[in-house]
Amino acid sequence: MSTLEIRDLHVTVDTEQGTKEILKGVDLTVSSGETHAIMGPNGSGKSTLAYSVAGHPKYTVTQGSVTLDGEDVLAMSVDERARAGLFLAMQYPVEVPGVTVSNFLRTAKTAIDGEAPKLRTWVKDVKGAMENLRMDSAFAERNVNEGFSGGEKKRHEILQLELLQPRIAILDETDSGLDVDALRIVSEGVNRAKETTDLGVLLITHYTRILRYIKPDFVHVFVDGKVAEEGGPELAERLENEGYDRYLQGATAS
Ligand code: ADP
Ligand code: MG
Ligand code: MG
Repeated sequence: MSTLEIRDLHVTVDTEQGTKEILKGVDLTVSSGETHAIMGPNGSGKSTLAYSVAGHPKYTVTQGSVTLDGEDVLAMSVDERARAGLFLAMQYPVEVPGVTVSNFLRTAKTAIDGEAPKLRTWVKDVKGAMENLRMDSAFAERNVNEGFSGGEKKRHEILQLELLQPRIAILDETDSGLDVDALRIVSEGVNRAKETTDLGVLLITHYTRILRYIKPDFVHVFVDGKVAEEGGPELAERLENEGYDRYLQGATAS
């Protein structure tokens, strides 16, 4: 049982216009086996939250804390965060020139477990995970993210999720750029990880579509760098019908 705890998180970025506060006191707790959806309008700071927990150097935490089972995540290097069991799939994954998917996954697995996986079982695990995601075996020999389509990037993210077996995963806009078939396959991968490893999921999304496939236990609406409203799955349904206008009008008026 693991718990990611985000408390009163304030985050700034340096822009050409100066330092700007993006997150303005975020509180959020995600435990093993739970799925939390973060929804909200564009520009509300959803990706900033993901980047901040991931330790992206552009984002400065000015106040608050992030802990995983009581350990200070913000004091950890990016590698240490992964070893601690955090999985942070980024909205725009970077290219890793000259490194094949196969080598990348094995290196990551070795770094996270502290020892290289046994070759025979590993090859079988990779093959099985790729079949689950309906990925062609040739994909393993391609360079990471080089010329990947949107759908291939997302499948690669979920392939990592299945093989690296993190405790808590933050998935940012996993649904963007996916057609319905790919969305279903990717969602099945997340649901499999939930069932087999009791994964805790923080699913960041602008649209409600993916929530038909990955059922959230909790929904948090993000507006202007803060959680503006929280509820259960019914809140996502209301947002699907009503959109975010109500929150945005509130934001301008205040
Ligand atoms: P969301 O993911 O909800 O669309 P973001 O976290 O991407 O929102 O952005 C929130 C706000 O922070 C936006 O106004 C965006 O322009 C600003 N922002 C985010 N990252 C940066 C950055 N690296 N440099 C400058 N501004 C940024
Ligand atoms: Mg505060
Ligand atoms: Mg975003």
